[in-house]
Amino acid sequence: MQPKNARFETRAVHGGMEGLVESGSHVPPIDLSTTNPLGSVESGGDSYEHMATGGDLMPDHSAVYQRLWQPGVARFEDSLASLEGSEGAVAFGTGMAALSAALIATVTAGKPHVVAVRPIYGGTDHVLATGILGTEVTWCGVDEIRESIRENTGLVLIESPANPSLELVDLTDVVEQAGEVPVMVDNTFATPVLQRPIEQGVTLVLHSATKYLGGHGDVMGGVIATNRDWVTRLRQVRAVTGGLLHPLSAYLLHRGLRTLPIRVRAQQETAGLLAERMQGHKALSRVMYPGLPGQDPKGLVGEGRQMVGPGAMLAVELAGGYDAAAAFTEACSLIVHAVSLGGVDSLVQHPASLTHRPVEADKKPGAGIVRLSIGLEHVDDLTDDLMQALDKAAAI
Ligand SMILES: *Cc1c(COP(=O)(O)O)cnc(C)c1O
Repeated sequence: MQPKNARFETRAVHGGMEGLVESGSHVPPIDLSTTNPLGSVESGGDSYEHMATGGDLMPDHSAVYQRLWQPGVARFEDSLASLEGSEGAVAFGTGMAALSAALIATVTAGKPHVVAVRPIYGGTDHVLATGILGTEVTWCGVDEIRESIRENTGLVLIESPANPSLELVDLTDVVEQAGEVPVMVDNTFATPVLQRPIEQGVTLVLHSATKYLGGHGDVMGGVIATNRDWVTRLRQVRAVTGGLLHPLSAYLLHRGLRTLPIRVRAQQETAGLLAERMQGHKALSRVMYPGLPGQDPKGLVGEGRQMVGPGAMLAVELAGGYDAAAAFTEACSLIVHAVSLGGVDSLVQHPASLTHRPVEADKKPGAGIVRLSIGLEHVDDLTDDLMQALDKAAAI
């Protein structure tokens, strides 16, 4: 069986490994070459021209220069594209570099207007709110996308589950409202294990690969899964502006994909139990988790219309506001107080002070909200840590 036609878990393990057995290797080599020997002057020139405008490596031609083509990066991209079900993928040095490339491509095409729905990752909010890349943003509610679109709208940008509130957005509805305008979904929280937006008609799927795809908190990267046309445009932006993924990082991200399905499912199972166990604690006014009753009104998870599970991220709101949220966060001990998410160890952080700090004051997450990324520790150890921290927060 060709790995391409195999099931999801098999593709996660074998994707992007083409040609290795024939070359006598078991895992992809890490090629650190910044430059590559050229054949004839003419073929070198042809390769350069072809790849600088977004084309693939030409058969029997030189890769020329790392900014144009890197074989390990291409392997990671192939594997991710196979998991997302897209025609291709383009990887970058960080999630923000990936987002920036998509915005630059949009501006270059003469469509600088972006329609975006809050809440969204704080860094994304910041790039759009400052207009630093020449975009102009209209923030709107999920039901106002259609009326927010103008002649020069180049992109509709949303995140689901949202960060940090874990609210779900109906992607099919967004795509329908967007019409001809491409929709980009930040799929960092869900990962292709739980949600594959391309199947809902979405054009661009963004990941901060730094999170679940890498999965161990030791590598930064970003990637966009999309169609051929956008692959070409994004590669061209990458070749020209240089937001490259390093070959070592590509290796680690590619390796991360191999365990992605089992990590996400195990972390999700623990998150679900913790959400249930924390509900009703007197320190809390709410537990935010799409797997809890009433938090998935459209049946996007429950009926499997969009996601096959609620994920491993959750948020809690402390009844005592900022002071209680700070006390809870600082009292967590097994769970590390740090930004980022999606790794094998659990993390806790206060979005209003950290990840969502750049967001305008009245659009910021509530001061009592704390976000948790659940890892692979034993659920009872995590429960003990959370309960003692909640008890401390309740006592202040
Ligand atoms: C972290 C994150 C980003 C930004 O990615 P970097 O790799 O930090 O640049 C974008 N979106 C979401 C949802 C994130 O969590």
